[in-house]
Amino acid sequence: MLTGTIFDLKGFALNDGPGIRTTVFMKGCPLRCLWCHNPEGLSPEPELYVKQVKCVHCGKCAVPCTHDDCQSYGRCLHVCPNDCVSVCGQTMTSAELAERLLRDRDVYEMSGGGVTFSGGEPLMQYAFVAEVLAILAKEGISSAVETSSFAAHDVYRKTLEHVNLIMADMKLFDCDAHIKYTGVPNDVIKQNLRWLIGESGKEYIIRVPLIPGITDTDENLAAIGEFVGDAHVELLPYNAMAGAKYASVGKNYTLSAEEYRADERILNFFSHAVIK
Ligand code: SF4
Ligand code: SF4
Repeated sequence: MLTGTIFDLKGFALNDGPGIRTTVFMKGCPLRCLWCHNPEGLSPEPELYVKQVKCVHCGKCAVPCTHDDCQSYGRCLHVCPNDCVSVCGQTMTSAELAERLLRDRDVYEMSGGGVTFSGGEPLMQYAFVAEVLAILAKEGISSAVETSSFAAHDVYRKTLEHVNLIMADMKLFDCDAHIKYTGVPNDVIKQNLRWLIGESGKEYIIRVPLIPGITDTDENLAAIGEFVGDAHVELLPYNAMAGAKYASVGKNYTLSAEEYRADERILNFFSHAVIK
């Protein structure tokens, strides 16, 4: 039985697929999109999380303590008067996670919902995710995966074999631009999406984040529109609050962009698209 690392479990989720769902946020992502709004999902390891908004800079957590569980984090996890200090990321076996997810079986069945794997990038822990997906499939629970599609093609096909809905990103068509803004090339993403759209027979949604001046250019949207053909596309406007959690995990948010004002013109680049 495999062990995986997750950083959040969101019950009664309404925006991560059909019906009422539980969303599992898997820790770790090989990409570094400048606009990522889940910086606590980037590192594959559990890490220190200090809620900056509630910190009054009293310094109590910086005083060395003797608790075993604090030693590797360089802060005391237990002394903060405002409960600001915690570890983001917990390990679970596939059976433990499946047992937790199956507790809401009635809710899934009543609402036409199920379980969604998100992140981070769920396919970075593909063997663990596949093991949980197999348990859910055996129990008749519908599943969905939100993915960057940055994974070896055989891993992509095998892991998603029993998934009911795949929500796959297409961020930038040009490979150099993809490297510049996400840190990785997009050749394997295109290979995976070609299979998803053209061969898999699976239910899927292509999702395009609208990042002002980066992904929302006419050139990029036209190229993605041509690539995906008549696929169902969701356009996801940039949220100017994306940088809110970076300081809590000791990272800097470097993108400076305005809140996205959805512009209907972008729909013209696609056969079937909606702005979310
Ligand atoms: S103990 Fe809490 S409030 Fe004080 S410095 Fe640490 S995180 Fe901030
Ligand atoms: S793929 Fe998603 S989780 Fe990974 S860096 Fe990009 S936005 Fe963040």
